[in-house]
Amino acid sequence: MERDRPAFLCHHCGTLHGVRRLPFGVTASCRTCGAVLYRERRSSVERALALTLAAAVLFVVAHAFPFLTFSMEGSTRSGTILGSAAALWADDSWALAVVVVMLVTVIPLGKLGLELWVLLPLWKGRVAPGTFRLFAFADKSKTWAMTEVYLLAVLVAYVKLSDLASITVGPALWAFAGLILCLAAADNILDRRAVWWRLQPQNTMRALGRPNRVVAACHTCDQVVALPDDGHGYRCPRCTAVLHARKPRALARSWALLLAAAVLYVPANILPVMTVTSFGRAQADTILSGVIALVEAGMLPVALLVFFASVTVPLLKLVGLGFLLVSVQLGWTGKRRDRTRLYRIIEQVGRWSMIDIFMIAILAVLVDLGEIARIEPGPGALAFAAVVVLTMLAARAFEPRLIWDRPPISTKKASADGEPLRHPA
Ligand SMILES: [Zn+2]
Ligand SMILES: [Zn+2]
Repeated sequence: MERDRPAFLCHHCGTLHGVRRLPFGVTASCRTCGAVLYRERRSSVERALALTLAAAVLFVVAHAFPFLTFSMEGSTRSGTILGSAAALWADDSWALAVVVVMLVTVIPLGKLGLELWVLLPLWKGRVAPGTFRLFAFADKSKTWAMTEVYLLAVLVAYVKLSDLASITVGPALWAFAGLILCLAAADNILDRRAVWWRLQPQNTMRALGRPNRVVAACHTCDQVVALPDDGHGYRCPRCTAVLHARKPRALARSWALLLAAAVLYVPANILPVMTVTSFGRAQADTILSGVIALVEAGMLPVALLVFFASVTVPLLKLVGLGFLLVSVQLGWTGKRRDRTRLYRIIEQVGRWSMIDIFMIAILAVLVDLGEIARIEPGPGALAFAAVVVLTMLAARAFEPRLIWDRPPISTKKASADGEPLRHPA
């Protein structure tokens, strides 16, 4: 019966669904906005654990060995991940060094550690202390663990340097590729929904009580809860995250972050992101002139990739998110599905803009041969990294369910909590 099914709330439009068992491999999408709700999978904690352990070993190898070795005029330089951050630090770009270390080393390592902490006991049928909070935290850190973006940056750096000098691929690059495969496979095998439901069953439609109460879904574990009438300060009974029918002050926060990003977008594009010195002659490159240089060197595919990641994606995020914010504030009711889709794209592609920053970090450590050849980060790089991080935060602060709230909400109301959703009878 419909009311005995576990309840599931779409995060993109707020429609309440009763979960049915589907055949394995089948994906359930939202009937209102088309977003993917969940996929029925044969979850295996055992296999996911094995892959996570393998990933942890590869993570150490990827950090211990050089990923590229650069030889020119009889001098040789090897680049490791931490070495590239240290090179930024030495060039007085300590803020960039911190960004690189956080996104490539600290956050991915933390996520691996937390997952092992939760999965190892779970495999033996036990629940480790702090499991609920830590598993939630591991899930949240996913957007900020940029291992695969870094690998792509290494490949771009490889192509860029290959006609300047002789470049050898080191063991860390293979370890990195293996690491990404293991992480992707572990992610695919472990059904996080099944793990959460095993830790504490999902509420059924019946458990939500009388119709017309305000319901909210936990942003972390997807538990669906009927909120008490005041609805504030209520926590998820499963993972203890604070629950909101709508993200609080979503529009104000998203606007503030987006405007800060838009302001920094100007220096990010005008100031040089790196300075290339070769045989005593220094040349400063902005993002766009870097792309043009790639085209002139005949590296069209790489130029297109960098153009897409560094020019198209940040612009899409600034303009697209600005459009979504305006459309919600004006209470537009048209093209809701398309606007939700635009939001999903903005949310997913944001992290790939970091390619340029990682590439500069890699070039700075490899090409450091004094007056013969030297690459240093410029002030534009930090501004650009800030634009990427701020637009990612702005997208996260935005509340896509405001697109679907009806009747159209006034600006005043939208800047508070928006219209709460009432679940159907
Ligand atoms: Zn939906
Ligand atoms: Zn929760």
